[in-house]
Amino acid sequence: MEKNKEYQQYQIKFNVPPHTGKELDYIKQCIEAQKICGDGVFTKKCNVWFEERTQAKKCLLTTSCTHATELAAILLDIKEGDEVIMPSFTFVSTADAFVLRGAKAVFVDIRPDTMNIDETKIEAAVTEKTKAIVPVHYAGVACEMDTIMEIAKKHDLYVVEDAAQGVMATYKGRALGTIGDLGCYSFHETKNYSMGEGGALLMRDDRFIEMAEIVREKGTDRSRFLRGQIDKYTWQEVGSSYLPSDMNAAYLYAQLEIADEINQARRKIWDTYYAGLKPLADAGKLELPVVPEGCVHNAHMFYVKAHDQEERTALIDHLKANNILSVFHYIPLHSAPAGKKYGRFAGEDVYTTKESERLTRLPLFYGLTEEQTAYIVDKVKEFYR
Ligand SMILES: *Cc1c(COP(=O)(O)O)cnc(C)c1O
Repeated sequence: MEKNKEYQQYQIKFNVPPHTGKELDYIKQCIEAQKICGDGVFTKKCNVWFEERTQAKKCLLTTSCTHATELAAILLDIKEGDEVIMPSFTFVSTADAFVLRGAKAVFVDIRPDTMNIDETKIEAAVTEKTKAIVPVHYAGVACEMDTIMEIAKKHDLYVVEDAAQGVMATYKGRALGTIGDLGCYSFHETKNYSMGEGGALLMRDDRFIEMAEIVREKGTDRSRFLRGQIDKYTWQEVGSSYLPSDMNAAYLYAQLEIADEINQARRKIWDTYYAGLKPLADAGKLELPVVPEGCVHNAHMFYVKAHDQEERTALIDHLKANNILSVFHYIPLHSAPAGKKYGRFAGEDVYTTKESERLTRLPLFYGLTEEQTAYIVDKVKEFYR
C-alpha cells in the first residue's frame, strides 16, 4: 500500500512544456485581431525582445531551429562539395541543414568535460573545402568560442552557432548565438522557452539581414513591402517559408515576459541536483556537468555520467522503477546510417562514443517541484548505495 501511494505521488515526467498562464489570452488576442499568419504583433515583440536581450543586430523567429539552420546554410551559400565542421554528439538537425544543401558533415571529437566540440581538434579537420564551423552549445554551456572564432578568422570560415539549447546563456558576457556570424535558437517544447515548434535566427551584424528576410519569406522582398519601403514585392532569390504563425509567437511571448523567473527556477533545480549529487561525484561514483569559467549556463539540462553503458541502463531502469523518467541521447551522428553516408569523422573518436554511452538526463522543467527534485536525488543516491 505504502509503495502504491508513492507510485501515485511520483509520476515524474522527463519534460513538461513551459506554460505561464498567459498564453491563451495572447493567442486569443491574435484571433480577435484577425491576424494569425506570420510576422504579426507577437512575432515582432519576440524579435525585439531577443534583440534587446542578446544585443544581436537582428533576430527573426522561424518555424524551428532546424529551419533557422537551413536558412543559415542558404545564406552562406553552402553547396555540393563543401564541408562543414561540427561535433558528432549532437541532434541530427545540426548536420541535416547543411547536408540538405549538398555539403559533407565533418565530425570532430568532443571534450569529455563539457561534451562540446573539442576546439583543439578543429584545425586539423579544416580542408580546402571547409566552409563553416558549427559549434553546438551542449546543455546551454558555451563552447570555447574565442578559440573557435580565431580558427575561423585564420582560415576564412563562417561560424554558425547551434544555440538551440543556449537561450539565456552567455560566454564571457555575450549571449550564445551572437558570437558567430549566425546563431540558431530552438523553441521546441523540450527547450527552456517554447512555442511548440519554433526557433530563431540571430544575426550579429548587418551583413545577412536583408537576404535573411528574403529567404525566410519564400525568396521575396515582402518584409520590405510590409514596412512600406517598396510598393510591390517580387521573387528575388531562392527561399522557403520559415516564418511561424503569430499564434505560436504569442505562446512564446508569454514566457519571455517572465524569462528571468523561468531561468532562475531552472537554475535552482540544477543547483539542487548538483549539491545533492556532489557527494557521489566526490566519492567517484558518477560524474556531474562541468561549467567552465566565463560560461553562464541556463540550466537547460542536468545530466549525470555513469561508469559505462551497462551502469547507465541500470540507473535508468532503477529510476523508472521509481516512476522517474530519465533519458539518454545522442547516438553519435557518425555512427548512424545517414551520418555514414553524408559525413565523416575527422581524427579519432576518443570521447564521442564513450562519453555519449555514459550520459543520462534527469527531469528538468519549469514547474518541477523541490520535493520532486529531492526525491530524484534520493533515488539516484539509492542506486549507488
Ligand atoms: C533541439 C535541438 C535542435 C532542433 O531544434 P528544433 O527547433 O526542434 O528544430 C537542433 N540542435 C540542437 C542541439 C537541439 O538541441
